[in-house]
Amino acid sequence: MRAAAIIVSGGSGSRMGRPKQFLPLAGLTVAEWSLRCFVDMAEVESVVLVLGEDALREHGARLNGGKVTVVAAGPTRMGSVRNGFAALPQGVEVVAVHDGARPMITPEIVRATFAEAAKSGAAVAAVPVKDTLKVVEKGRGIVSETPDRARFWAAQTPQTYRYSVLKEALEKFAGDADATDESQLVERCGQAVSVVESSYENFKITTPEDITMASAIIEAREGGRRESRTGFGYDIHKLVEGRELWLAGVKLPHNKGLLGHSDGDAVLHACCDAVLGALGLGEIGIAFPPTDPKFKGLASKEIVANTLGKLAACGGELVHLDATLIAEEPKLKPHYEKLKASLAALFKLPESRVSLKAKSNEGLDAIGRGEAIACHAVATVLAP
Ligand code: MG
Repeated sequence: MRAAAIIVSGGSGSRMGRPKQFLPLAGLTVAEWSLRCFVDMAEVESVVLVLGEDALREHGARLNGGKVTVVAAGPTRMGSVRNGFAALPQGVEVVAVHDGARPMITPEIVRATFAEAAKSGAAVAAVPVKDTLKVVEKGRGIVSETPDRARFWAAQTPQTYRYSVLKEALEKFAGDADATDESQLVERCGQAVSVVESSYENFKITTPEDITMASAIIEAREGGRRESRTGFGYDIHKLVEGRELWLAGVKLPHNKGLLGHSDGDAVLHACCDAVLGALGLGEIGIAFPPTDPKFKGLASKEIVANTLGKLAACGGELVHLDATLIAEEPKLKPHYEKLKASLAALFKLPESRVSLKAKSNEGLDAIGRGEAIACHAVATVLAP
Protein backbone atom coordinates (compact mmCIF):
# COMPACT_ATOMS: atom_id res chain seq x y z
CA MET A 1 0.00 0.00 0.00
CA ARG A 2 1.55 3.31 -1.08
CA ALA A 3 0.76 5.94 1.55
CA ALA A 4 1.21 9.71 1.67
CA ALA A 5 0.12 12.58 3.89
CA ILE A 6 -1.00 16.18 3.48
CA ILE A 7 -0.29 18.37 6.52
CA VAL A 8 -2.45 21.46 6.41
CA SER A 9 -0.77 24.38 8.20
CA GLY A 10 -2.23 27.32 6.34
CA GLY A 11 -4.39 28.84 9.09
CA SER A 12 -3.95 32.42 10.25
CA GLY A 13 -4.54 31.62 13.94
CA SER A 14 -7.05 34.35 14.73
CA ARG A 15 -7.67 32.95 18.23
CA MET A 16 -3.92 33.02 19.13
CA GLY A 17 -3.05 36.43 17.71
CA ARG A 18 -0.47 34.86 15.39
CA PRO A 19 -0.27 31.59 13.42
CA LYS A 20 -0.41 28.85 16.03
CA GLN A 21 1.34 26.30 13.82
CA PHE A 22 4.70 27.97 14.29
CA LEU A 23 4.54 28.68 18.00
CA PRO A 24 7.49 27.07 19.81
CA LEU A 25 6.66 23.75 21.43
CA ALA A 26 9.11 21.50 23.31
CA GLY A 27 12.14 22.42 21.21
CA LEU A 28 10.41 22.46 17.80
CA THR A 29 7.29 24.22 16.53
CA VAL A 30 3.71 22.93 16.59
CA ALA A 31 3.72 22.16 12.85
CA GLU A 32 7.11 20.41 13.00
CA TRP A 33 5.89 17.98 15.67
CA SER A 34 2.90 17.20 13.42
CA LEU A 35 5.22 16.79 10.43
CA ARG A 36 7.76 14.66 12.30
CA CYS A 37 5.27 11.89 13.08
CA PHE A 38 4.58 11.30 9.38
CA VAL A 39 8.17 11.81 8.18
CA ASP A 40 9.44 9.23 10.71
CA MET A 41 6.94 6.58 9.54
CA ALA A 42 8.70 4.25 7.08
CA GLU A 43 5.43 3.41 5.30
CA VAL A 44 4.73 7.08 4.43
CA GLU A 45 6.55 7.75 1.16
CA SER A 46 5.70 11.41 0.73
CA VAL A 47 4.48 14.29 2.92
CA VAL A 48 3.07 17.49 1.44
CA LEU A 49 3.20 20.42 3.87
CA VAL A 50 0.78 23.22 3.05
CA LEU A 51 1.88 26.59 4.45
CA GLY A 52 0.31 30.04 4.61
CA GLU A 53 2.08 32.98 2.98
CA ASP A 54 4.12 34.13 6.00
CA ALA A 55 5.10 30.63 7.13
CA LEU A 56 6.05 29.76 3.56
CA ARG A 57 8.44 32.71 3.43
CA GLU A 58 9.89 32.04 6.88
CA HIS A 59 10.04 28.23 7.05
CA GLY A 60 9.33 26.94 3.52
CA ALA A 61 12.92 26.51 2.32
CA ARG A 62 14.04 24.96 5.63
CA LEU A 63 11.28 22.34 5.76
CA ASN A 64 11.22 21.44 2.05
CA GLY A 65 13.32 18.44 1.05
CA GLY A 66 13.64 14.69 1.56
CA LYS A 67 10.15 13.23 1.87
CA VAL A 68 8.64 16.70 2.39
CA THR A 69 7.26 18.93 -0.37
CA VAL A 70 6.17 22.39 0.75
CA VAL A 71 3.30 24.06 -1.15
CA ALA A 72 1.33 27.28 -0.68
CA ALA A 73 -2.05 27.30 1.08
CA GLY A 74 -5.27 28.13 -0.74
CA PRO A 75 -7.80 30.76 0.27
CA THR A 76 -9.80 28.23 2.33
CA ARG A 77 -9.02 24.97 4.12
CA MET A 78 -10.43 23.02 1.19
CA GLY A 79 -8.31 25.13 -1.17
CA SER A 80 -5.24 24.17 0.86
CA VAL A 81 -6.14 20.48 0.74
CA ARG A 82 -6.58 20.77 -3.05
CA ASN A 83 -3.12 22.35 -3.41
CA GLY A 84 -1.62 19.61 -1.26
CA PHE A 85 -3.46 16.91 -3.20
CA ALA A 86 -2.11 18.26 -6.51
CA ALA A 87 1.46 17.84 -5.22
CA LEU A 88 1.10 14.13 -4.31
CA PRO A 89 3.26 11.69 -6.26
CA GLN A 90 1.54 9.53 -8.86
CA GLY A 91 0.36 6.09 -7.82
CA VAL A 92 -0.32 6.86 -4.15
CA GLU A 93 -3.12 4.63 -2.85
CA VAL A 94 -4.06 6.15 0.51
CA VAL A 95 -3.76 9.76 1.68
CA ALA A 96 -3.93 11.01 5.27
CA VAL A 97 -4.99 14.65 5.63
CA HIS A 98 -3.71 15.98 8.95
CA ASP A 99 -4.06 19.28 10.73
CA GLY A 100 -0.68 20.93 11.42
CA ALA A 101 -2.08 22.16 14.74
CA ARG A 102 -2.39 18.60 16.12
CA PRO A 103 1.22 17.95 17.18
CA MET A 104 0.45 15.01 19.51
CA ILE A 105 -0.52 12.65 16.70
CA THR A 106 1.09 9.21 17.00
CA PRO A 107 2.11 6.67 14.33
CA GLU A 108 -0.31 4.15 15.88
CA ILE A 109 -3.32 6.37 15.19
CA VAL A 110 -2.11 7.18 11.66
CA ARG A 111 -1.56 3.48 10.93
CA ALA A 112 -5.05 2.59 12.15
CA THR A 113 -6.57 5.14 9.74
CA PHE A 114 -4.41 3.87 6.84
CA ALA A 115 -5.61 0.31 7.44
CA GLU A 116 -9.27 1.29 7.73
CA ALA A 117 -9.19 3.61 4.69
CA ALA A 118 -7.53 0.94 2.57
CA LYS A 119 -10.37 -1.42 3.55
CA SER A 120 -13.45 0.84 3.49
CA GLY A 121 -12.36 3.95 1.54
CA ALA A 122 -12.51 6.60 4.26
CA ALA A 123 -11.48 6.71 7.93
CA VAL A 124 -11.61 9.60 10.38
CA ALA A 125 -9.71 9.68 13.70
CA ALA A 126 -12.22 10.63 16.39
CA VAL A 127 -12.93 10.32 20.11
CA PRO A 128 -16.24 9.75 21.92
CA VAL A 129 -17.51 12.99 23.43
CA LYS A 130 -16.95 12.97 27.22
CA ASP A 131 -19.14 15.89 28.26
CA THR A 132 -22.92 15.91 28.17
CA LEU A 133 -24.02 17.94 25.17
CA LYS A 134 -26.71 20.61 25.22
CA VAL A 135 -28.44 22.11 22.24
CA VAL A 136 -28.70 25.82 23.00
CA GLU A 137 -31.11 28.13 21.21
CA LYS A 138 -29.20 30.78 19.33
CA GLY A 139 -29.53 34.25 20.84
CA ARG A 140 -31.60 33.11 23.85
CA GLY A 141 -28.98 31.07 25.67
CA ILE A 142 -31.57 28.50 26.69
CA VAL A 143 -31.16 24.73 26.46
CA SER A 144 -33.66 23.28 24.08
CA GLU A 145 -32.49 19.67 24.08
CA THR A 146 -30.06 17.21 25.73
CA PRO A 147 -29.22 14.67 23.05
CA ASP A 148 -27.94 11.18 23.80
CA ARG A 149 -24.17 11.65 24.23
CA ALA A 150 -23.43 8.11 23.05
CA ARG A 151 -24.22 9.15 19.48
CA PHE A 152 -21.57 11.90 19.36
CA TRP A 153 -17.92 11.67 18.46
CA ALA A 154 -15.50 14.58 18.13
CA ALA A 155 -13.73 14.40 14.77
CA GLN A 156 -9.95 14.91 14.71
CA THR A 157 -7.34 14.31 12.06
CA PRO A 158 -5.86 12.40 10.32
CA GLN A 159 -8.77 11.89 7.99
CA THR A 160 -7.54 9.24 5.64
CA TYR A 161 -8.95 8.27 2.27
CA ARG A 162 -8.30 6.05 -0.65
CA TYR A 163 -6.76 8.36 -3.26
CA SER A 164 -9.72 7.90 -5.65
CA VAL A 165 -12.26 8.72 -2.90
CA LEU A 166 -10.59 12.02 -1.96
CA LYS A 167 -10.05 12.90 -5.63
CA GLU A 168 -13.74 12.45 -6.40
CA ALA A 169 -14.82 14.58 -3.42
CA LEU A 170 -12.39 17.42 -4.20
CA GLU A 171 -13.42 17.45 -7.89
CA LYS A 172 -17.14 17.19 -7.26
CA PHE A 173 -17.17 20.07 -4.81
CA ALA A 174 -14.51 22.17 -6.52
CA GLY A 175 -16.59 25.35 -6.36
CA ASP A 176 -18.23 24.49 -3.06
CA ALA A 177 -18.21 26.80 -0.06
CA ASP A 178 -15.59 25.84 2.50
CA ALA A 179 -16.16 22.77 4.64
CA THR A 180 -14.46 22.43 8.05
CA ASP A 181 -13.18 18.97 7.09
CA GLU A 182 -12.82 16.82 3.98
CA SER A 183 -15.00 14.12 5.47
CA GLN A 184 -18.10 16.30 4.93
CA LEU A 185 -17.42 16.35 1.18
CA VAL A 186 -16.70 12.63 1.10
CA GLU A 187 -19.95 11.94 3.01
CA ARG A 188 -21.87 14.06 0.49
CA CYS A 189 -20.49 11.84 -2.26
CA GLY A 190 -22.33 8.95 -0.62
CA GLN A 191 -19.13 7.30 0.61
CA ALA A 192 -19.38 5.65 4.06
CA VAL A 193 -16.83 7.15 6.45
CA SER A 194 -15.50 4.89 9.22
CA VAL A 195 -14.50 6.19 12.61
CA VAL A 196 -11.15 5.10 14.08
CA GLU A 197 -10.96 5.63 17.83
CA SER A 198 -8.14 8.06 18.51
CA SER A 199 -6.64 9.56 21.67
CA TYR A 200 -7.83 12.60 23.64
CA GLU A 201 -4.17 13.72 23.56
CA ASN A 202 -4.48 14.33 19.81
CA PHE A 203 -6.20 17.65 20.44
CA LYS A 204 -5.93 20.74 18.30
CA ILE A 205 -3.81 23.68 19.46
CA THR A 206 -6.31 26.53 19.51
CA THR A 207 -5.71 28.69 22.59
CA PRO A 208 -2.48 29.61 24.48
CA GLU A 209 -3.18 27.16 27.33
CA ASP A 210 -3.22 24.33 24.78
CA ILE A 211 0.52 24.96 24.27
CA THR A 212 1.15 24.39 28.00
CA MET A 213 -0.74 21.09 27.92
CA ALA A 214 0.86 19.98 24.66
CA SER A 215 4.38 20.64 25.90
CA ALA A 216 3.69 18.66 29.10
CA ILE A 217 2.46 15.70 27.02
CA ILE A 218 5.36 15.85 24.56
CA GLU A 219 8.00 16.25 27.27
CA ALA A 220 6.57 13.30 29.18
CA ARG A 221 6.65 11.22 25.98
CA GLU A 222 10.16 12.32 25.04
CA GLY A 223 11.54 11.65 28.50
CA GLY A 224 12.31 15.36 28.85
CA ARG A 225 11.26 15.19 32.47
CA ARG A 226 13.84 12.59 33.46
CA GLU A 227 15.28 13.63 36.78
CA SER A 228 18.88 14.74 36.66
CA ARG A 229 21.11 13.71 39.59
CA THR A 230 24.55 14.93 40.56
CA GLY A 231 27.23 12.81 42.22
CA PHE A 232 30.49 13.98 43.75
CA GLY A 233 33.70 11.96 44.03
CA TYR A 234 37.11 12.50 45.61
CA ASP A 235 40.32 10.50 45.71
CA ILE A 236 43.93 11.02 46.78
CA HIS A 237 47.00 8.79 46.38
CA LYS A 238 50.58 9.12 47.59
CA LEU A 239 53.16 9.97 44.92
CA VAL A 240 56.18 7.69 45.35
CA GLU A 241 59.29 6.63 43.43
CA GLY A 242 59.40 3.30 41.62
CA ARG A 243 55.76 3.38 40.41
CA GLU A 244 54.21 4.17 37.00
CA LEU A 245 52.03 7.26 36.91
CA TRP A 246 48.53 6.51 35.60
CA LEU A 247 45.92 9.25 35.38
CA ALA A 248 42.55 9.02 33.57
CA GLY A 249 43.68 5.69 32.11
CA VAL A 250 46.80 7.21 30.53
CA LYS A 251 50.41 6.34 31.51
CA LEU A 252 52.30 9.63 31.90
CA PRO A 253 56.08 10.10 31.74
CA HIS A 254 57.28 10.89 35.30
CA ASN A 255 59.86 9.61 37.76
CA LYS A 256 57.16 8.86 40.37
CA GLY A 257 53.81 7.15 40.42
CA LEU A 258 50.75 6.83 42.64
CA LEU A 259 50.75 4.26 45.40
CA GLY A 260 47.71 2.03 45.57
CA HIS A 261 46.65 -1.60 45.44
CA SER A 262 46.10 -1.28 41.67
CA ASP A 263 47.41 1.50 39.41
CA GLY A 264 46.27 4.20 41.88
CA ASP A 265 44.51 6.18 39.13
CA ALA A 266 42.94 8.90 41.28
CA VAL A 267 41.02 10.41 38.32
CA LEU A 268 39.21 7.19 37.44
CA HIS A 269 38.53 6.44 41.11
CA ALA A 270 37.09 9.92 41.75
CA CYS A 271 34.96 9.77 38.58
CA CYS A 272 33.62 6.32 39.49
CA ASP A 273 32.78 7.57 42.99
CA ALA A 274 30.92 10.50 41.42
CA VAL A 275 28.83 8.20 39.18
CA LEU A 276 28.13 5.82 42.08
CA GLY A 277 27.25 8.82 44.26
CA ALA A 278 24.64 9.99 41.75
CA LEU A 279 23.08 6.52 41.97
CA GLY A 280 23.25 6.49 45.79
CA LEU A 281 25.56 3.44 45.73
CA GLY A 282 28.33 4.79 47.97
CA GLU A 283 31.91 4.67 46.66
CA ILE A 284 34.01 2.07 44.88
CA GLY A 285 35.21 0.50 48.15
CA ILE A 286 31.56 -0.20 49.04
CA ALA A 287 30.24 -1.02 45.56
CA PHE A 288 33.19 -3.32 44.77
CA PRO A 289 34.57 -4.44 48.19
CA PRO A 290 38.25 -5.53 47.92
CA THR A 291 37.41 -8.29 50.45
CA ASP A 292 35.35 -9.95 47.68
CA PRO A 293 37.83 -12.07 45.64
CA LYS A 294 35.93 -10.94 42.53
CA PHE A 295 37.07 -7.36 43.08
CA LYS A 296 40.48 -7.86 44.76
CA GLY A 297 43.20 -5.92 42.89
CA LEU A 298 40.71 -4.75 40.26
CA ALA A 299 42.43 -2.50 37.66
CA SER A 300 41.00 1.03 37.50
CA LYS A 301 39.69 0.55 33.94
CA GLU A 302 37.80 -2.53 35.15
CA ILE A 303 36.37 -0.47 38.02
CA VAL A 304 35.08 1.98 35.39
CA ALA A 305 33.53 -0.87 33.37
CA ASN A 306 31.91 -2.27 36.52
CA THR A 307 30.58 1.17 37.48
CA LEU A 308 29.03 1.61 34.02
CA GLY A 309 27.55 -1.87 34.43
CA LYS A 310 25.85 -0.79 37.68
CA LEU A 311 24.59 2.35 35.94
CA ALA A 312 23.14 0.36 33.03
CA ALA A 313 21.60 -2.22 35.37
CA CYS A 314 19.51 0.44 37.09
CA GLY A 315 18.60 2.28 33.86
CA GLY A 316 20.58 5.46 34.60
CA GLU A 317 22.39 7.44 31.92
CA LEU A 318 25.65 9.33 32.43
CA VAL A 319 25.49 12.66 30.58
CA HIS A 320 28.45 14.67 31.91
CA LEU A 321 31.68 14.35 33.87
CA ASP A 322 33.76 17.18 35.28
CA ALA A 323 37.06 16.39 37.02
CA THR A 324 39.68 18.61 38.66
CA LEU A 325 43.11 17.15 39.35
CA ILE A 326 45.26 18.68 42.08
CA ALA A 327 48.96 18.05 41.51
CA GLU A 328 52.19 19.95 42.00
CA GLU A 329 54.06 17.77 39.54
CA PRO A 330 54.20 16.70 36.75
CA LYS A 331 52.78 19.62 34.77
CA LEU A 332 49.51 18.28 33.39
CA LYS A 333 48.47 20.98 30.91
CA PRO A 334 50.42 19.43 27.99
CA HIS A 335 48.51 16.17 28.59
CA TYR A 336 44.97 17.61 28.90
CA GLU A 337 43.72 16.51 25.47
CA LYS A 338 45.02 12.98 25.83
CA LEU A 339 43.62 12.59 29.35
CA LYS A 340 40.26 14.01 28.34
CA ALA A 341 39.98 11.73 25.29
CA SER A 342 40.82 8.71 27.43
CA LEU A 343 38.30 9.68 30.11
CA ALA A 344 35.60 10.15 27.47
CA ALA A 345 36.38 6.79 25.84
CA LEU A 346 36.42 4.88 29.15
CA PHE A 347 33.12 6.40 30.33
CA LYS A 348 31.60 6.10 26.83
CA LEU A 349 30.83 9.82 26.57
CA PRO A 350 31.46 12.21 23.67
CA GLU A 351 34.40 14.51 24.49
CA SER A 352 32.00 17.47 24.50
CA ARG A 353 30.49 15.96 27.66
CA VAL A 354 33.75 15.56 29.54
CA SER A 355 35.69 18.28 31.32
CA LEU A 356 39.15 17.82 32.81
CA LYS A 357 41.40 20.42 34.37
CA ALA A 358 44.30 20.58 36.81
CA LYS A 359 45.30 22.88 39.65
CA SER A 360 48.38 23.13 41.80
CA ASN A 361 48.10 23.60 45.57
CA GLU A 362 50.55 26.51 45.48
CA GLY A 363 53.20 24.74 47.58
CA LEU A 364 50.83 24.26 50.51
CA ASP A 365 50.20 20.92 52.28
CA ALA A 366 51.23 17.41 51.15
CA ILE A 367 49.89 17.88 47.62
CA GLY A 368 51.64 21.22 47.43
CA ARG A 369 54.90 19.54 48.49
CA GLY A 370 54.46 17.02 45.65
CA GLU A 371 53.83 14.07 48.00
CA ALA A 372 50.39 13.20 46.59
CA ILE A 373 47.93 13.77 43.74
CA ALA A 374 44.20 14.24 44.37
CA CYS A 375 41.17 14.48 42.16
CA HIS A 376 37.65 15.88 42.58
CA ALA A 377 34.90 14.86 40.16
CA VAL A 378 31.24 15.67 39.53
CA ALA A 379 29.01 13.36 37.50
CA THR A 380 25.60 14.23 36.08
CA VAL A 381 23.33 11.24 35.65
CA LEU A 382 19.79 11.03 34.28
CA ALA A 383 17.81 8.93 36.70
CA PRO A 384 16.05 5.80 35.49
MG1 MG B 1 41.81 5.48 44.92
